[in-house]
Amino acid sequence: MFTIDDLADRLGGYLPPDEIQQVKRAFYYAEQAHDGQRRRSGEPYVTHPLAVANILANMHMDHQSLMAAMLHDVIEDTGVSKKALAAQFGKPVAELVDGVSKLTQITFEDKAVAQAENFQKMVLAMSRDIRVIIVKLADRLHNMRTLGALRPDKKRRIARETLEIYARIAGRLGINTIRVELEDLSFQAIHPMRAERIKRAVASARGNRRSAMREIQASLQQSLDDEGLKGTVIGRQKHLLSIYKKMRDQRKPFAEIMDVFGFRIITEDVASCYRILGVVHNLYKPVPGRFKDYIAIPKANGYQSLHTTLFGQRGMPIEVQIRTREMEAMANNGIAAHWLYKAGQTAHPIAEGSHARARAWVKGLLEMQRHAGDSLEFIEHVKNDLFPDDVYVFTPKGDIMELPQGATVIDFAYSVHTDIGNNCIACRIDRHLAPLSTRLESGQTLEIITAPGARPNLAWRISSPLPRRAPPFAMR
Ligand code: MN
Repeated sequence: MFTIDDLADRLGGYLPPDEIQQVKRAFYYAEQAHDGQRRRSGEPYVTHPLAVANILANMHMDHQSLMAAMLHDVIEDTGVSKKALAAQFGKPVAELVDGVSKLTQITFEDKAVAQAENFQKMVLAMSRDIRVIIVKLADRLHNMRTLGALRPDKKRRIARETLEIYARIAGRLGINTIRVELEDLSFQAIHPMRAERIKRAVASARGNRRSAMREIQASLQQSLDDEGLKGTVIGRQKHLLSIYKKMRDQRKPFAEIMDVFGFRIITEDVASCYRILGVVHNLYKPVPGRFKDYIAIPKANGYQSLHTTLFGQRGMPIEVQIRTREMEAMANNGIAAHWLYKAGQTAHPIAEGSHARARAWVKGLLEMQRHAGDSLEFIEHVKNDLFPDDVYVFTPKGDIMELPQGATVIDFAYSVHTDIGNNCIACRIDRHLAPLSTRLESGQTLEIITAPGARPNLAWRISSPLPRRAPPFAMR
């Protein structure tokens, strides 16, 4: 069994002894407070907060977040007051615990209005301290890992909520290790049979492909070594939900999805990324139109990497991602990478940038909340916002604006400024006049023409998620 001493050992890798001591103190306090309480599995309750703290330790979160993780159910389940926690552990930790407790009371099962109001509460809690949501995500992850023998309908409800809300927030904050695991656990709870079939198919396909994978990996590595470029080539696996979604949305047979070989190359610096790109394009022919430069234009959640697809032997596509170590940390931990670097005392510009972006996102949600007519309208905005496939457009001055997929010129106008939105009457896209209802595409430059008192047709704004296709399921 995993103990507090195991955790303390692990923390020794990145926290000073006095902070580790405080984390231990929080554990013993929680152990006493939850004394006599058990989890559904029969284990002592405190194993849960300990596991949550361990998830955060893997992300190298700071000691206050870990203390809050230890204490996160104490107010809710044992009647200890926030004031008492503040006296024992200081105000920041007490505030974090209070924030997580408030999120715990929120459920998204009820009617849409209640759901929207709850989401607003959630945004408020996040805006005070973004660590609240990170602790909450770790809490939800451990609960999903231990869904166990819950009634199937209850399991499905929790899994849906996890998929709709928490996995998306994790994605929006770039915390991909948590997002991917939440998605796969939810998928398994909602569609146990389908998940099982895909899992088995993946295992057998993996066995068949092993030698081909090794061959490609070796030839990529060799070509880097020949050029004297430092880089490590690793094989990539797709996760269950992403395979399922490809089958469902793109109607691709399983075999075709698995026919793609995925690799990642981790290197030292940005210049090496582009040089390595040249080397792999020289080794295998690139597939036209598939190259994406997320280093020059990062995704909304801070993700940076070069993506390219190559024609391998016998025409097998090879997908390659090329990035630096910092970009890799960002891709896995997103906003949490901020604390990762803070702990090492070397604040990294990428991590700092992501933290600033996350704050901007939460601030944007608050703004939206103020402008939205009612809670339902707000939640629709948020749902759009949580779809991570953003489009990027430019202002005439060359500033990059990010908007959700399906956004129109009017959305752009409002994202520049509410007054511009209220007064826009026309627009130029790449210098050509275009209607306000035009859907935006990445790379366009937009110039908004305003006139005082003009009232644009707000029906052209995106207010509901894009229609999704029905989910047929066929597997070969
Ligand atoms: Mn909990």
